[in-house]
Amino acid sequence: MFLLRTQFAASISRPRSYLRLCSQCQRKFFPRNRAFSTLPDIPIFKALQSHDPARLAIVHSKSNRSFTYGSLVADVLQSKERLAEKQPAGLSGQRVAFLAENSYDYVVMLLSILASDAIAVPLSPAFPVPELQYVIDHSSPSVLLSTERFADKAREIYSAGLQAEPLLDVRSKISAGSSSTNPVSLTSLHEPQGGLMLYTSGTTNRPKGVLIPQSALTAQSLSLIEAWKYSPRDHLLHLLPLHHIHGVVNALLTPLIAGSAIEFMFPFNPEATWRRLAAPFLPEGSNRSVITFLTAVPTIWSRLLGSFPDLPSDVQTAAKQAISPANLRLNISGSAALPAPTKKAWEELSGGNVLLERFGMTEVGMAISCGLDFRDRVDGSVGWPLPHVEARLWDYEKNEVIRPGEEVDENGRERVGEIQLRGPTIFKEYFRNEAATEEAFVDDNDGKGRWFRTGDDAVRRPVPGSGQGSSGDWAQGPMYFIQGRRSVDIIKIGGEKVSALEVERELLSLPEIIEAAVVGLPSEQWGQRVAAVVVLDRTRVGPSWGIMDLRRALKGRLAMSKIPTKVKVLEKIPRNAMGKVNKKMLVKEVFGGS
Ligand code: AMP
Repeated sequence: MFLLRTQFAASISRPRSYLRLCSQCQRKFFPRNRAFSTLPDIPIFKALQSHDPARLAIVHSKSNRSFTYGSLVADVLQSKERLAEKQPAGLSGQRVAFLAENSYDYVVMLLSILASDAIAVPLSPAFPVPELQYVIDHSSPSVLLSTERFADKAREIYSAGLQAEPLLDVRSKISAGSSSTNPVSLTSLHEPQGGLMLYTSGTTNRPKGVLIPQSALTAQSLSLIEAWKYSPRDHLLHLLPLHHIHGVVNALLTPLIAGSAIEFMFPFNPEATWRRLAAPFLPEGSNRSVITFLTAVPTIWSRLLGSFPDLPSDVQTAAKQAISPANLRLNISGSAALPAPTKKAWEELSGGNVLLERFGMTEVGMAISCGLDFRDRVDGSVGWPLPHVEARLWDYEKNEVIRPGEEVDENGRERVGEIQLRGPTIFKEYFRNEAATEEAFVDDNDGKGRWFRTGDDAVRRPVPGSGQGSSGDWAQGPMYFIQGRRSVDIIKIGGEKVSALEVERELLSLPEIIEAAVVGLPSEQWGQRVAAVVVLDRTRVGPSWGIMDLRRALKGRLAMSKIPTKVKVLEKIPRNAMGKVNKKMLVKEVFGGS
């Protein structure tokens, strides 16, 4: 942490022009009960204050309305003061839930909750009311903030009777942004209690509240700034939901700390996204900024590719220019495995822009990433542990760590291990769920703390020409290749482990298949067998195309034991907002009791 703090202090060394007052003086000068113009002395607010107040912070894409860092700080203060009026006893360590569209208002709410040293619980407006009620009951917030747009939904949450009713505070839309020039000071918090709580989509159990203290949020952001070099010159197009780590940390908090501009465009619409990307390169869009940074999930990349041919030719030409390496500085994929054909097609369309893949999860933020140097973006790999993240692979069969140099066993086979992580970026606990927290961590006797068990398996493999350190010191040595979730993606056939992701990759490389999900089904003879759910490209296959054609196509590409023995064709594979497939549910729905 010390290293992080000193690095950070160095990165925001600009002198501050605002008045600094100690808390005692503030009490003397300001009337009692009036909330002071103070923000906590934590890195996110230090950073916000150090940015040029005139710099663009947030843009609403559709209307092109924009807000500067100066107005953001002023509005956060105002919102924090309003919260303090609601809860004069203070909100430190308490939960504050909020329901807001992807907008400036969301950002102001989130930051004002952090500024109150409280724990922000973003609610997804897309969730049905009973699910939101579950989150409210579980997190027991003191206040529920809502924008006007979702006021009815917020009231509906109350109507069914909540266990502990939070105060409801409906906020009207901030249209112009404040221009207050009140002096703002930073006051240190004795023991910071604030942070973010995100609910993970459970497969069998109810969602768990992942409590990420502000120190971990900061560490996650600083790690990404170091690896991906976010800068005030970046203009990020934000296409993701804001109740998920990817949308909140990678695409919002981190660029805010770096002083970048964030443009909201949600929900994702491929054609609108193309038109926005293309705008600065068309005569009518010359007032729009060039998008330099795009982070998305694999389904977004593939839907963009799928809709490109339908664009008018002038938009196509401009869009190609927009996504070329000269303009789109960084294109990142994550939250699920990136299919190689998608990566290749994007590279071709963009004239050489290679998607950078990374691995992360709600509990840890981003953990492993490919590098900025194109040579460090290797197909099928997620790269190296990010700065300040310590990673290891744990072999459950031998009950030992797979040490560097031990990646291959005595029979020449690659050893698969669970990714385990530790360091300042890791979450604190599953809120009010001691048993799950206990189970998620494993002790180490080296005195450096316990490891978080991700539940994801990987292999580590040296890749010639990559990992030479050109993307940073952290990006060196053998690279990580995700094999999938231990619980669903590692299929055991007669004792041999098959990675569902590997089979999916091969299926997706067949021109006839546009979507694939591979699962394990119980088999008396082998323990498990490989089954696949696929979506076919109807323009390429006739109605008689079936399992025998699929098996024939995979012969020679995959060992026989890995080729699916059962295949189900669907029109669409159900996915959540982040493009993830819930395989446990899929097996139940598609294969029933088989
Ligand atoms: P979430 O907490 O919703 O972000 O989900 C985290 C999970 O997404 C991880 O545990 C992985 O199983 C999966 N995941 C994230 N990034 C990748 C990736 N690049 N490749 C494969 N799986 C990924």
